Amino acid sequence: MKTTQCVSCCKQPLSKDEYGICMKLLGEDTEAFYCLSCLADYLDVTEQDILDKIEEFKEEGCKLFS
Ligand SMILES: [Zn+2]
Repeated sequence: MKTTQCVSCCKQPLSKDEYGICMKLLGEDTEAFYCLSCLADYLDVTEQDILDKIEEFKEEGCKLFS
């Protein structure tokens, strides 16, 4: 996995969950990765909404979070 930083605030490294949810919400071939708080900002939702999504995807057994 290439090292990527948040395109908005340059936080790095991003966690596995942050990578995973970016791919889920922005598309698996996205070039832009965001940390949790910037992704929430970008999508105009709360960080908790994103965390809930991550849990949902994990429960579905999504391979991006395994
Ligand atoms: Zn950020």
